[in-house]
Amino acid sequence: MTKVTPASEAQREAWTSGGFPEVERVRPGLWSIPVPLPAIPLRYVLVYALELPDGVAIVDAGWNTDEAYGALAAGLKVAGYEMTDVKAVLVTHIHPDHYGLAGRIREVSGAWIGLHPADSRLLHDRYDDGAVDSLVAQERALLVRSGVPQATLDELAGASMMIRHYVTMARPDRLIEDGERVGLPGWDLQAVWTPGHSPGHLCFVERERRLLFSGDHVLARITPIVAVHPQSAPNPLADYLQALATVRKFDVDEVLPAHEYRFLELAERVDHVMAHHSERLAEIEAAVGAAGGITCWDTATRLTWSRPWETIPSFMRRAANNETLAHLVWLEARGRLRRVPGEPDLWHPA
Ligand SMILES: [Zn+2]
Ligand SMILES: [Zn+2]
Repeated sequence: MTKVTPASEAQREAWTSGGFPEVERVRPGLWSIPVPLPAIPLRYVLVYALELPDGVAIVDAGWNTDEAYGALAAGLKVAGYEMTDVKAVLVTHIHPDHYGLAGRIREVSGAWIGLHPADSRLLHDRYDDGAVDSLVAQERALLVRSGVPQATLDELAGASMMIRHYVTMARPDRLIEDGERVGLPGWDLQAVWTPGHSPGHLCFVERERRLLFSGDHVLARITPIVAVHPQSAPNPLADYLQALATVRKFDVDEVLPAHEYRFLELAERVDHVMAHHSERLAEIEAAVGAAGGITCWDTATRLTWSRPWETIPSFMRRAANNETLAHLVWLEARGRLRRVPGEPDLWHPA
């Protein structure tokens, strides 16, 4: 496996040793602030603070916990700012670890929140109390069509509900479109729409400083989940692979992701992630070819995962199922597999 070069050895060391990185000055006027995540292996989100003439803008926010709020406030203090100095919160996408705290920051600082319209559209169904039952019902229907065993259906369908508590529902003040100049004074920041991990995922390219803020789109070691779910696009893997090609073109010196650590080689990392999905597609095509008339769930149980299938907790099994489905759908769209619809759908070689 080709490895990327960490931009900060201390940050890489903190990640690989299970520690917590320091607040770092990435460039003059640009800070990396780790914000802790409760109880998940990612451990922290890296919030970037961009100094402005009259305050600071941040890329991503963290979960809505007191601990996260305190860590962000302390990090801003290292950079010489207070939470009340935040003028803008640029959210790469609406997952709780990026967006959850945005509303609370706006309450104390009056900052504007920016989000891509495709993610903004999902907010109501995802986070408004009255709407979420319908989302769970849709997820359940998807799992039935995937062939998830009856006994684990309810557990899997409601598997991400606890995470909603880490979000304050906040509508964006500004919708940021693909290619839009964000217009922060002193920064040449341009939004790049990179759907796949989330339908409205945004990266931000800074051409003058030769930086890419990559959110969850491109990370140093892990690949983001790209899955079919009730709020995904019909073929999210196709979107994702295309969006990888989009960012690969940028001539930057450093990639600033939202997790793990900063690194140098964007194109090499993108190539590696693309190769990973090609391998996965081949593995899934072969599994369906060997079985013929197999469900998505049964396909998922036959793939190689980072640990034995029996030991994967239920919410991660759901992600594994939905990720497998994204690959099946991609293969179907390419005419390499055929789906016989039903409850469950059965997958066959084309
Ligand atoms: Zn995410
Ligand atoms: Zn994330």
